Amino acid sequence: MNGYWNKVLHVSLGDRRTWIEEPGEAFFRRLGGGRGVIAHYLLRHVPKGADPLGPDNVLVFAPGVLTGAPVPGAGRHSVGARSPLTGAFGESESGGYWGAELKRAGWDALVVHGAASAPVYLWINDGAVELRDATPLWGKPTGEAEEAILAELGDPRVRVAQIGPAGERLVRFACIVNDLNEVAGRTGMGAVMGSKKLKAVAVRGHGAVRIADPPGLLALAKWVASTLDEKHRAYHELGTGSAMQGKNLEGGMPVLNHRLGAADTVARVDAVAVRAEVRVKMTSCYACSVRCKKVVHVEREAAAARAAEEAVYKGRTRVAVDPRGRYRVDPRHGGPEYESLAALGVNLGLDDLVAICKANELCNALGMDTISLGATLAWAMECFEKGLLTLDDTGGVPLRFHDADAVVRLVELVARREGVGDLLAEGSQRAARKIGRGSEAFLTTVKGLEMAMHDPRHMPIMRASYLLAPTGGDHMRQTGNRNGLRNQVGLCHFLAYDDDQTLAILRAVTGWDLTAEELVQTAHRGLTLARLFNLREGLTRADDRLPARFGEPLPKHAGLSREQQEQIVTDYYVEQGWDAATGVPTADTLRALGIEADAAAAV
Ligand code: SF4
Repeated sequence: MNGYWNKVLHVSLGDRRTWIEEPGEAFFRRLGGGRGVIAHYLLRHVPKGADPLGPDNVLVFAPGVLTGAPVPGAGRHSVGARSPLTGAFGESESGGYWGAELKRAGWDALVVHGAASAPVYLWINDGAVELRDATPLWGKPTGEAEEAILAELGDPRVRVAQIGPAGERLVRFACIVNDLNEVAGRTGMGAVMGSKKLKAVAVRGHGAVRIADPPGLLALAKWVASTLDEKHRAYHELGTGSAMQGKNLEGGMPVLNHRLGAADTVARVDAVAVRAEVRVKMTSCYACSVRCKKVVHVEREAAAARAAEEAVYKGRTRVAVDPRGRYRVDPRHGGPEYESLAALGVNLGLDDLVAICKANELCNALGMDTISLGATLAWAMECFEKGLLTLDDTGGVPLRFHDADAVVRLVELVARREGVGDLLAEGSQRAARKIGRGSEAFLTTVKGLEMAMHDPRHMPIMRASYLLAPTGGDHMRQTGNRNGLRNQVGLCHFLAYDDDQTLAILRAVTGWDLTAEELVQTAHRGLTLARLFNLREGLTRADDRLPARFGEPLPKHAGLSREQQEQIVTDYYVEQGWDAATGVPTADTLRALGIEADAAAAV
């Protein structure tokens, strides 16, 4: 066995049982990991119509066969469950080190069943598995909770995936934070974890993932390092968000709830501004030489900044000072990626970089998805602007675009479900249904998931992704073979490997005589399994649709007609081997993908 251990850990929280499943080589070769593995377990273990926040939902942590291999990009894992935000297939991916640590501990996946009666955390120390009391951790933000767990376990190299107070309070877009600065952000997996009263999963692995062809893999890792200038320089220097000014010039920036395509303040809050104003370093995920992750550090006053420079950075780095003395931004929580700069910044009309960094830090400390939170705030602000939400509705809190300090305050209100935060913690689609008054017209959701910050009117390549991702308004284009496959095997989408190199990496790690066609099938299999789950839960073609906002034109881009959308959907159904009218996978497709048993479980 190379690239996998043939060991899936099941944990039943209600009766504190654990068991090991050994699903066999064919399972890992056919599914790869990630979405495929998640869909497999959701179809089998989650009863149709189960409450996403009830004990019948299962929470699956699924690295892939590449996760933990010593090659750049192989630090990803996925988390999945029935989504409390959408009711559909829920899944989100994260980078960092946690997924690789789980593999190093000897596990290919973790499936969490049931719910605990009091807060617990799971401690996985290689093959030893233990549930521990998390009552003292409940209510703590992620930084404090991680400190307490590492102190209790007495090992600073333990990796922790956890929820913050937002997950505990079942905020429907709560995320799972690992390594304090990486998140499985989308579709509310943190709320599922909170409903199970599972505060954290702490992992320590002392092994190494077995590799079939170490020299072959090393050559590919060296290719990334030796072509850094040519292939990854922009990511290495600036991370995501370096192209915001270009997007703005093209009229494709989300601004004021996707109504405008540009703002003249973008240069104050893009990745170039982050580097100039608040960044102290770049870091990486497991085994990755690209190092595209920003770390920002802001102190409230100059003396604290100087002390931090001396103590932490040994005087080699300038720590920023908030010019208005309001916010400290903790570097343990990394820094804002493009999605956060846009969702918590430009789309809310903000040009206050320190406040945006603070809102981003709070999202990682309290455990919320910046995209869904930002889009929900944008929807609420437009409603407030148009008088559909009033001060009576919001408990006296004004919801105005351009108000940076209010956004920082709202992050905390939502995470703790206080005041108007309780309404917004439901996500924009549920909140719109609750207040009515025509507010649905300002939603930017697909299947209930707030769309990411790439406007499909500006970027044709995003249209199929938003329309057809099983999770809803997802921008990662995992509906395509390339990204769909990477999602499953645990490979970062930012690495410039071409398809031949991806195939070579998979062969080097697993030793399987894989073909390009087999990899395409793996991606199709994962997407079709997720489709089966959604169909079972009552989703139909009518859910493969963009919200009304994207039928409206931008100053530089036309709106997308219903006919355009229908054509994209039909073409995709046909490409996947699903019925052209309904999107139901055909019997021939189920047979070709070898998933008839999963389809039977979906009934
Ligand atoms: S490219 Fe960036 S996000 Fe991807 S694995 Fe490397 S450091 Fe992580």
